Amino acid sequence: MAFGGNIAAIKPLSFSHGVHPEEYKQLSCNNPIERMPFVAEYILPLGQHIGAPSKPIVRKGQKVFRGQKIADPEGFVSVALHAPVDGTIDAIDLFTHPNGQELPAIKIKCDTFSSQLVTPQEAGDPENMDLPEFISAIQEAGLVGLGGAAFPAHVKFSIPEDKTCQYFMVNGCECEPFLTADDRLMVEYAEELLDGVEILNRFIKAEKLYVAVEINKQEAIQVISEKAVSRNCPIEIVPLKVKYPQGAEKMMISAILGKEIPAGKLPLDIEVLVSNVGTMVAISQYFRKGQPLIERVITVTGTALGRPTNVMVPIGTPMIELVNWCGGITSDAARVLLGGPMMGMVQKRLDVPVIKGTSGILALSDHEARVMTEYSCIRCGRCVDACPIFLNPSLLGMLAKKGFWDEMAKNNVMDCFECAACSFVCPSAIPLVQHFRVAKGFIKEKAAREKFENRNSV
Ligand code: SF4
Ligand code: SF4
Repeated sequence: MAFGGNIAAIKPLSFSHGVHPEEYKQLSCNNPIERMPFVAEYILPLGQHIGAPSKPIVRKGQKVFRGQKIADPEGFVSVALHAPVDGTIDAIDLFTHPNGQELPAIKIKCDTFSSQLVTPQEAGDPENMDLPEFISAIQEAGLVGLGGAAFPAHVKFSIPEDKTCQYFMVNGCECEPFLTADDRLMVEYAEELLDGVEILNRFIKAEKLYVAVEINKQEAIQVISEKAVSRNCPIEIVPLKVKYPQGAEKMMISAILGKEIPAGKLPLDIEVLVSNVGTMVAISQYFRKGQPLIERVITVTGTALGRPTNVMVPIGTPMIELVNWCGGITSDAARVLLGGPMMGMVQKRLDVPVIKGTSGILALSDHEARVMTEYSCIRCGRCVDACPIFLNPSLLGMLAKKGFWDEMAKNNVMDCFECAACSFVCPSAIPLVQHFRVAKGFIKEKAAREKFENRNSV
């Protein structure tokens, strides 16, 4: 049953361990989603999702329309790409990707005299589709998980025949400090969100539907609850405690169902599917309006930014244009991150485009950037108490310093999902999560090499 009463009266659920970083959401959580003016050029990297890059189907000099497909999926784990504006294809070449590499992309010169109305795409009627048609439509819409990982949505929704989805959870936790894009989306696009859930559930047929929201988003909880009641949507709104990393799939499932995902397994192995609020809104917009994934909401914020807010941004917009629209970066900025302060990646250049997985741009001053001197481990155990999956980060950190990758693997470092809770609490400022990222890279590389050698020796 949908929750629609007094939020304070509900006891929020949570998981064991975790941390409580300072919030900073107040910088932008009350700012309605804005739209910025269209800019002169857009850069669309062909690879902006997990899987194979898309394949261009346009040529230089060709006119394109806002919403028109400009690249096809290349194989199953890949999605289509669409023009975010009316304009002309200016180049198909190598451009700097937000990850720092020079990678193939399509550059569009924006038509400054256009009304920039979306040219609707033929999405089909979800009421009259079978599962393969729906999966193909989601792939054609260019949909990826909008929570940050950018995993192709149609792959996630392709439930194997030997599996079932009993529980479907919409992830509205947004537990990263500073980020408020999902919060605003839930408040302003609640109808579309629920419509997206209802469309999707025609195909995945979950018995229980949930929207998980941290209790610090009271307006979102209230609005979704009221809309769910008014449209008779059988979804339960689950208020969760404000704790990091509450929005990680494992932690959310643990909080709501009290179930653990076994090591090396996926949520579907325990009959659960999780998707982000933005993805639900995007499903609705594609099937109801014919609008593929050509824009997304981004929180542009930080104590070193002129005007923190939430903006609906065409994919491909140069970050510098977006940052300038939001007041620009102040002179005391120490660091710019893509994403939140816990899991976000340092961004050295801002002449790169917004991509489908960009959830936030964060300009931090010295204080929040936590630039600290590293000391030796004092064995205080704080990292052990923080780790939500009960690893021993202190031990793993010591093994990492010695390069004992095999020992780290035996101590389950591959289960680490790099939430950085351990690094956050460490009084010695040991960059534990960075060590674990490096170690996981070595372990994966070694496993791939051994597999290759074994195959060749047969
Ligand atoms: S980064 Fe890894 S080891 Fe550290 S708290 Fe998160 S899951 Fe645990
Ligand atoms: S929190 Fe830091 S200092 Fe404390 S045990 Fe863990 S690694 Fe060592």
